[in-house]
Amino acid sequence: MTVKTILARKGTDVVTIDPAATVAAATTLLNERGIGAVVVTGTEGRTIGIVSERDIVKALGARGAGVLDVPVSEIMTRKVVTCAQHDTIGELMQTMTEGKFRHVPVVEQDRLVGIVSIGDVVKSRLEQMEQESNALRDYIRTA
Ligand code: AMP
Repeated sequence: MTVKTILARKGTDVVTIDPAATVAAATTLLNERGIGAVVVTGTEGRTIGIVSERDIVKALGARGAGVLDVPVSEIMTRKVVTCAQHDTIGELMQTMTEGKFRHVPVVEQDRLVGIVSIGDVVKSRLEQMEQESNALRDYIRTA
């Protein structure tokens, strides 16, 4: 199973934000869309960072409520790890585990074509395991 399989099911919509938008605006966006991270895009939609709920909690803890008024560019992670559609779910799980993050934007030819969260990965693994156990059960019944 590959990243493409996940995107085929969940779609290619990626919520993005301007680097000049405030941390308060990013918080509102995460809440309204029910997501845990937003990709920060610059000119021509290029990915320049990622802001997750973790970054907001960290900034609030370190700098207090005043940080809500600063631009997201001040608190975003600039070195974004991405994946490709042909990457396997196993490879993606390894990337998330090693990098200690739960969101990975999917990029093809410098274009953002989706985002996969740890929740999407767990869901697809559970479905795969269920399919495998059903196939095994069928095999045992008919053998
Ligand atoms: P998360 O577990 O996704 O909430 O993110 C934990 C930390 O990793 C935060 O500082 C995020 O900005 C950062 N982060 C999240 N996703 C990525 C990614 N794909 N590449 C690099 N850093 C990331």
